[in-house]
Amino acid sequence: MIEILTRLENTYNGKDYAMLKRAYDFARKAHVNQKRASGEEYFIHPCTVAGILIDLGLDAATVAAAFLHDVIEDTPVSEGDIKKEFGDEVLELVVGVTKLEKIQFHSKEEEQAENFRKIFVAMAKDIRVIIIKLADRLHNMRSLNFLSVERQQRMARETLEVYAPLAHRLGISQIKCELEDLCLKYLEPEFYEYLSTNIDERLKENVELVDHVVEEVKGILSESGVSGEVYGRKKHLYSIYRKMKERNKTLDQIYDLVAIRIIVNTVDECYEVFGKIHHKWKPVPGRIKDYIATPKPNMYRSLHTTVVTNYGKVFEIQIRTYEMNHAAEYGIAAHWKYKEKKKIADDLDTRLTWIREVMEWQGGLKDSKEFLNSLKGDIYSSEVLVFTPKGDVISLPKDATPLDFAYNIHSAVGNKCVGAKVNSKMVPLNTVLQVGDVVDIITSQSSKGPSWDWLKIVKSPSARVKIKQFFKREMKEENVKTGKIMLDAEAKHRGFTLSELLTDDAFLHIATRMSFNGQDEMFASIGYGAVSVNQVIVKLIDYHRKSQPQQEITKFFKTNKKSGSSVKVKGMAGLLVRFAGCCNPVPGDDIVGFISRGHGVTVHRRDCPNLKQADDDRLIEVSWTDQTDSVYNAGIKVVGNTQTEILTVVAAAVAQFKLEIVSTNGRTDVKSNQATVDFHIRLNSKEELNNLINKLRQDPKITDVFRTAN
Ligand code: MN
Repeated sequence: MIEILTRLENTYNGKDYAMLKRAYDFARKAHVNQKRASGEEYFIHPCTVAGILIDLGLDAATVAAAFLHDVIEDTPVSEGDIKKEFGDEVLELVVGVTKLEKIQFHSKEEEQAENFRKIFVAMAKDIRVIIIKLADRLHNMRSLNFLSVERQQRMARETLEVYAPLAHRLGISQIKCELEDLCLKYLEPEFYEYLSTNIDERLKENVELVDHVVEEVKGILSESGVSGEVYGRKKHLYSIYRKMKERNKTLDQIYDLVAIRIIVNTVDECYEVFGKIHHKWKPVPGRIKDYIATPKPNMYRSLHTTVVTNYGKVFEIQIRTYEMNHAAEYGIAAHWKYKEKKKIADDLDTRLTWIREVMEWQGGLKDSKEFLNSLKGDIYSSEVLVFTPKGDVISLPKDATPLDFAYNIHSAVGNKCVGAKVNSKMVPLNTVLQVGDVVDIITSQSSKGPSWDWLKIVKSPSARVKIKQFFKREMKEENVKTGKIMLDAEAKHRGFTLSELLTDDAFLHIATRMSFNGQDEMFASIGYGAVSVNQVIVKLIDYHRKSQPQQEITKFFKTNKKSGSSVKVKGMAGLLVRFAGCCNPVPGDDIVGFISRGHGVTVHRRDCPNLKQADDDRLIEVSWTDQTDSVYNAGIKVVGNTQTEILTVVAAAVAQFKLEIVSTNGRTDVKSNQATVDFHIRLNSKEELNNLINKLRQDPKITDVFRTAN
């Protein structure tokens, strides 16, 4: 442990060193008496993690956070203590690592693994948190042999599917290679054993050969006056394993177990040496790669070629500058290593391009400004990744709510949703979800379904569509009922029963014009508000009038009588006033006058359908006077089982109230076996009319009774 203090002192300036020394002491005190599975002191773990990060060249805050990364979770130390001792930057890094600690990865399909990588990046907020986490995982993988086989497997799979690809995407090949080899060791122990033994054997056989090639390359360099380094480098086991699996090859068919690496100072020197190598040895066609001109997505840069040496052996040769080599090993971490350099300004631009490309898969990072923000704190993202209680990751649009989550699971879950828990706490359904939230939807079979308000809450188009579908489909029955009631009421208001208007012929007539596929669809359209009830009723009445023969009763209405002195016209006296034949007003009705050409004023009921088309200028206010010097006719329609029954009941009631029946007109509908009789009753006031109607309504033989418009 003395060693790490020395390295801190050699690497960081006085102020940083003082802070790091405090972090070291703080963590050692916090973890005192704790042991690892191996039996070692626990404190060895944070020290090793810090050491890995010092190697990667990370800044003091990151290394301090590495010392402290397990104290919140495993010791009584609080966030407040760390903030007080080390400030916000270190605290946020430690909290970030602690949060990632809680994510449980469940290996499933590749898509899930990718989501986990995304959630890591999104939750980490600061890329340094991921780098600490990678170092932490590396040390845990190194000491995996102390755990149970089951935990070894789980940890290795998680590492292979989440951590190693992250390291690769961040370009940190050092960590990536070591992680992959360790995974292979635990996941395919026999294969690992076979590879390491056999590769070592072959390398021993080849060691002289490699030395020869290295010497010859060194010769090329000195002939050209280029200074640099040349060495043979073992390919990591996992890359050989993958080649064998993917291309179905035996170990003997893999010739590039060792690559010759040449490191020079400038890009020009790279190409110069490249040309001279090809001059000396024949390149294998199709194996020349210029990653300097066209870097890999993770900004890896190097020249690669495979040549046939004069010993007949094939070698891969990699040529690059020192800086490229450093970037290849340390990836994104090189950002901090080079931070102090003077070239920072234009260097930053290239690095941001690189980082942008590295992060492209993250989906949300569209420009370098966003990445800068991500280093500072928030990664902007158009999506929010959350967990199901089982640990699956669900991707939702930004600002999504538990309802979006529910509909994402299944429309049945959404439609039956009655509540939601986020991180085990009940929350309102419009709560905005945060990345990493665990969302649990509470459903109830007795739920009637979504409410219209939900359309205002949900953020995802698919949830919106599903809610609308529900209303269209499930509510249809309700709409049919509502539409029927509305149409029935409007028919009565205009003096008809729905059954007399809505005959099969009448429906056929309007169905072709309004494209209804059945009566239910027409009712539903009215109930749903797609079609107005007036549109339908006007067409039905129209059809009814045209199909009915002119009846005696209509003639009767032509003979209306003078009002005498029972109505007065506002502001005028001595005008000729007559009652309209169409609506037969009686005293007590709400009335209005219509100035007719040459016939004075005609008095209508205010709700008379004929007035709907009337010119407003010709309407005039009128009112009843106290004098009821006349008798009036009022129309009623009575529905019952038979015409005889209706006539008997109405005649008795009319006699009781000392009124008089002026006319009757009855018919029986064969299909519904229902009788309807229209009456005109002579009476003196609306009160008398109401009494009669109420009396008839109480009779069990009468199905329905109402006043008609004429
Ligand atoms: Mn740890």
